[in-house]
Amino acid sequence: KDVINQIAAAEIIHRPSNAIKELLENSLDAGSTSIKITLKDGGLKSIQITDNGHGINKSDLPLLCERYATSKLSQFEDLQSLNTYGFRGEALASISYCSHVEVITKTKSEGCGWKANYQDGQLIPSKPGSPAEPKPTAANDGTVITAEDLFYNMPLRKRAFKSPSDEYTRVLDVITKYAVHNPHVAWICKKAGTSLPDVSTPINSNAKANIANLYTPSLANELLEIPLTTLKPEEKLSAKCRGWVSNANSNWAKKGGWLLFINNRLVESSRIKKAIDALYTAYLPKGASPWAYLSLELDPAKIDVNVHPTKSEVHFLNEDEMIDGIVGIVQAALAGANT
Ligand code: ADP
Ligand code: MG
Repeated sequence: KDVINQIAAAEIIHRPSNAIKELLENSLDAGSTSIKITLKDGGLKSIQITDNGHGINKSDLPLLCERYATSKLSQFEDLQSLNTYGFRGEALASISYCSHVEVITKTKSEGCGWKANYQDGQLIPSKPGSPAEPKPTAANDGTVITAEDLFYNMPLRKRAFKSPSDEYTRVLDVITKYAVHNPHVAWICKKAGTSLPDVSTPINSNAKANIANLYTPSLANELLEIPLTTLKPEEKLSAKCRGWVSNANSNWAKKGGWLLFINNRLVESSRIKKAIDALYTAYLPKGASPWAYLSLELDPAKIDVNVHPTKSEVHFLNEDEMIDGIVGIVQAALAGANT
């Protein structure tokens, strides 16, 4: 059983940035308005994420890192939408199968915080010889999760990571994208032991201000807004799209960028990206690419559940019509700006 769990973990957590994505999604799901991430060696040595969300009940701590332990079942109407993102209740378990996990958490109703340590899905003693149970500890409302020594038990994988700074770049990329999409949250990301954060956004910001802050002001100034629009209302797709895209004339288009969220999860869709790239080739010089941040809201039941759960590439029903609709609204924005 442990071997199976370890293989599952290795498939879900490829590198520090995957772990970060899972952890920050949990913090967002917990209603946090402040999320702070500190990394050692690009996350390979340690990842720590501190949030001010609703915390975890003490009674949920013993089974927290068990596979398929999730408190989010009730949010989903049926098994199909439950499977939408593939690994409900598997993220923390997976992280505990490939690192040393410590959780410190406090709910509003609890007088003190609780600390718990995990290995291979199980609660373990915080010190050798002490009982395997949560320990009372001082804590702020919210949750602090620390994952140390990623892949300590997978020497081959561990050796494959040549450059902590490469991993750090990937982590910053994920956090930057989530910060653009969740500007109500105050985000901080820094290397342990440094005082100057690499990502720092104020609470209750907005997407454009965060793009200016985290990319460049000149990019933000040139962007065109796509207001929330229903895609092809006549076809009853029940899908909406909004976002910000580069003006075809912008200098920034030379660098390009691509942020796609579907139902608030950062995903890849090579078909949508290709369609947008193709649209811009009509406007842009050869070799240039667009910068686009698109947020799609789809009926969760329409996202294809047959896609392998560990892939971020998604497919959905009525894909052709949806893509057509998305291209249509981006084109309208470009046409409006270039007449
Ligand atoms: P899932 O998010 O799919 O439910 P996870 O393995 O990511 O599964 O997390 C398991 C459970 O742990 C969540 O359902 C949630 O109840 C709890 N949890 C994890 N992280 C946090 C957090 N930062 N704040 C509050 N609860 C959390
Ligand atoms: Mg999760």
